Parts: sequence; C-alpha cells; structure tokens
Amino acid sequence: MAPETEAFDVVIIGGGPGGYAAALYGASAGLSVAMIEMAQVGGTCLHRGCIPAKEFLETAAVWRTVTGAAEFGVAAAAPTLDFAVSQGRKQSVVDMLTKGLSGVLANRSVTVLSGKGRLAAAGQVEVTDGLDAGRTLRAPAVILATGSTPRTLPGLEVDGRLVLTSDEFLDLDHLPASAAVVGGGAIGCEFASMLSDLGVEVTIVEGLPSILAACDAEVVSQITRSFKKRKIAMLTSAVVTGHVPSSSGTSTALAIEGREPLDVEMVVVSVGRRPMTEGVVDPSVGVEVDERGFVRADGQMRTAAQGVWAVGDIVAGTPQLAHIAFAEAMVAIKDILGEEPAPIDYLRVPWAIYCHPEVAFAGLTEAQAIEMGYDVVTKKDPFGGNGRARIVGETEGMVKVVAAKGPDGRAGQVLGVHMVGPWVTEQLGAGYLAVNWEAMVDEVAALIQPHPSLSETFGETMIALTGRGLHVG
Ligand SMILES: Cc1cc2nc3c(=O)[nH]c(=O)nc-3n(C[C@H](O)[C@H](O)[C@H](O)COP(=O)(O)OP(=O)(O)OC[C@H]3O[C@@H](n4cnc5c(N)ncnc54)[C@H](O)[C@@H]3O)c2cc1C
Repeated sequence: MAPETEAFDVVIIGGGPGGYAAALYGASAGLSVAMIEMAQVGGTCLHRGCIPAKEFLETAAVWRTVTGAAEFGVAAAAPTLDFAVSQGRKQSVVDMLTKGLSGVLANRSVTVLSGKGRLAAAGQVEVTDGLDAGRTLRAPAVILATGSTPRTLPGLEVDGRLVLTSDEFLDLDHLPASAAVVGGGAIGCEFASMLSDLGVEVTIVEGLPSILAACDAEVVSQITRSFKKRKIAMLTSAVVTGHVPSSSGTSTALAIEGREPLDVEMVVVSVGRRPMTEGVVDPSVGVEVDERGFVRADGQMRTAAQGVWAVGDIVAGTPQLAHIAFAEAMVAIKDILGEEPAPIDYLRVPWAIYCHPEVAFAGLTEAQAIEMGYDVVTKKDPFGGNGRARIVGETEGMVKVVAAKGPDGRAGQVLGVHMVGPWVTEQLGAGYLAVNWEAMVDEVAALIQPHPSLSETFGETMIALTGRGLHVG
C-alpha cells in the first residue's frame, strides 16, 4: 500500500536559519508549514557556527577585561583559563536557544519532522533516516534550505585532533599551545583573534595576498596592523600543500609551498563551505545546480523548477550568512504568497566580523565604487578621538564612509560604510540604513548621535563629509 500523504501549504527541507525563518514567517502569514530537519533545529548557525563562535569570542573579551582591570584601578589576579568551563557555557547557551526555537516553532504550529527530506517529485517530499522516516508530504511550494558543511584542502584530511574544521574546533574542551588557522576570511580571523587573546600562538595562513580580502583596503590595513601588534603571525599568498604529523603525534608540520614548514599543535581549516545538496532533489524535478553543487535561484529565490524555492547557504553566488538566509526566507515566503517581493540587493547587505577589533560594513568599498565608475569622496574618523572609546579603553579603529561625488563636487549619496573598532557590529545599523535608503551625506549628517557614544564617530565622519567637520577636518 502506498504511504499516506500529508498535505501542507509549504514543506521546507532543512531547519537552519533559512529553513526555520521560512517556517516561522510562513506560519505567521497563516500558511500550514512542515519543516524536516535531520539533526537539530537551528542548523549550522546555532550549533556549529555563529552562536558557538561568538560565545568563545566573548570568553576572549572577558579575558581581556580581566587582564586590563588594573588600568581602571580594579585589582584582579592574573586570569587563568579552564576551557572546559567555557565549552560548557557555550553549550548551555546553545541548548537554551535551541529549546527556545523549538518552542516558538511549536507555538506557531509548524510541524517539525525528524529525518532526511528528499524532493522525490514535483510537490512531493519523502522523509528517510530518522524518527519520521517513511512519511510523505505534499505541498504546492517546497523550500530547499539544506545549508552547508565545511570544506577542507587536499592534504589536510580532517582527523579532529591535529586537523580540524570549525565543526570540531567549536567542540574542543582544551586549547593547544600553538595553532595554524588556514584561511584568513571572516571565520579564520575570528578564530585567530580568539585563540590569540587566550594565549595560543597563532599563525594565519592565507592563499590570497591579504586577509579579509572582501573588506575595504583601509579596514584590512587596520586589522593587519592590529593583529601584528598582538603577535598574530600572517602568511599571505601562501599555498598549503599538506602536513606531516610528528612521531609523537602531538604536533604537525604544515607544508607551505616555497616556505619552511610550520610546526603547530593544531591546524584549523577555514577555507569556505560546500553546499549540502547531494541527493536532496530527484533530477527529474529540474532544479538546477552550478558546477560546485550550489542551487541556482532568481531574485524571488525561485529555482528552475516550478514550485521549488531555495534559501540560505545552498544558493549560488550569494553570501553565506545567517541574516542573508533569514532575508531570503522572507522573500521566498512573500513570493509564495504572491506578494511580489523586491529582490535582495546583495551589494548592500550588512557584514559583521567579530574578531578584535570588530569589523562591520555595508555597501561598496572604495575600490568597488571606483571600479563601478563612481567619482568618490571618502572620509574617515578614528575612534581615538571618541570620548566613549577612551572611557572603555578601546581606541583602535575607525569609521570610513564612501560617498558619490555630486554635481556640485560635494559628497552626495552614501555608497558604503566601513567600520573597525569597539562594538562596531552593533553600530552598523545606522550605516546600513544610510546605504540602503540611498541617503545623502547631508541628510545623515543632520541626524543627532547621543553623547558620549561610540556612534558619534559615524556621525562625525558624515559631518566631516559635508565639508564642515566638528572635531574631524
Ligand atoms: C564558525 C562559523 C561562524 C559563523 N558565524 C556567522 C556569523 O557571525 N554571522 C552570520 O550571519 N553567519 C555566520 N556563519 C554562517 C551561518 O552559520 C550560515 O550562513 C547559516 O547557518 C546558513 O543557514 P542555512 O539555513 O542556509 O543552513 P544551515 O544552518 O547549514 O542549516 C541547514 C540545516 O539543514 C539540515 N539538513 C541538511 N540536509 C538535510 C536533509 N536532506 N533533510 C533534512 N535536513 C537537512 C542540516 O542538518 C541543517 O540543520 C558562521 C558559520 C560558521 C561555520
């Protein structure tokens, strides 16, 4: 007898940020939604990504605060680290958020199924390999949100001891004395920053000519200077070819083309992520993937197959970020509801990197703006002159604004906002709004920033761009 088919308005495969945001947003709009998850709701972000990584960066921040306490007249003993306790705290934060998410899904009457989802035919999803294996769901709209998994490099086979990806790294209960972080992107720099704060000797090994290659060049210089000051070694244009474990098995020599091998206790590979799309869709459905397995989707997140949408890390050519997955999920649901959503402008989305000092930006870098043919005006203001930054003792960094030169030769539309410094990931909101609102420098400069606040540096940069700076010329 054929299995009974359960009918929903929307079936979602994958319960990470893309999947659960689509489920919650769809349920809020009154749609009946089923979501299939083969591990735990929350996905990479909650269990192996954003939340655990930021939790450990907070451990590093606490360490810095205690180390610097004497400057404020607060006597504290030199800190020592019990990383098993940090790991335990991370896990309790993750568990609490997972419980909260499961509760919200239940409250919204989302049917959450445990198992592997597979789009077997148009509108028909089968569940295998889990508690709900054998169930078959039918829906006119199916959203693929199966996310991604870490990549590694040839010669760096992951063993969880000497060679780790972010998955294993975020589950450690102790730290090594030395580590190489292969890959100097956002995740690599966050790991290197955290390890260095906590006393690990760190080397970033990056194949490109600089770390954080997607950032504005002045942001890169600032972070590079800051990392050097903290004794984080950086090997750039460095091609890793493999590693040779020591005879004791407690360390390894990382082989780098044309350089001396690098002896470290641990190699953390953070060189990007590959999509989890294998076997998720029957080829007869007609969903198109690119040569690397990413799903092709249009501005409404529609795939090439009628009735199938894709969101999050599996989508080709879009940033692999949790907040992008959220935004794409909302676009997909609006499209399913026939609301004609505006496509996401990926050149203007917010980016946040939680290393120390933090990095946050939205919009075009100066180089991108020039390449796109803009005549640009830029201004930057260092945090060194900001009263609040002096008070908290975090004066490294700056805000840089890239604006288009108007016909009168003055700074016109805000094209990009780039920040390095204290809590800039929390300050980017105003810059993001300015860039996306297509605001003019004069308009943003007229807005009042509270005093004393870190956000005054953003305000000051805008005022300076009008040609009449207060503290900044
Ligand atoms: C170390 C690290 C730090 C990060 N930090 C940040 C950050 O600070 N900010 C940020 O915005 N982003 C960050 N990210 C990226 C972020 O985690 C991802 O962009 C986000 O999780 C993508 O969401 P997703 O729903 O597309 O995929 P995922 O989160 O990967 O979720 C996909 C889910 O689908 C499930 N699944 C897969 N196949 C199937 C199937 N066939 N059936 C059922 N279930 C299936 C998986 O088990 C998983 O739970 C970080 C990532 C890492 C690794």
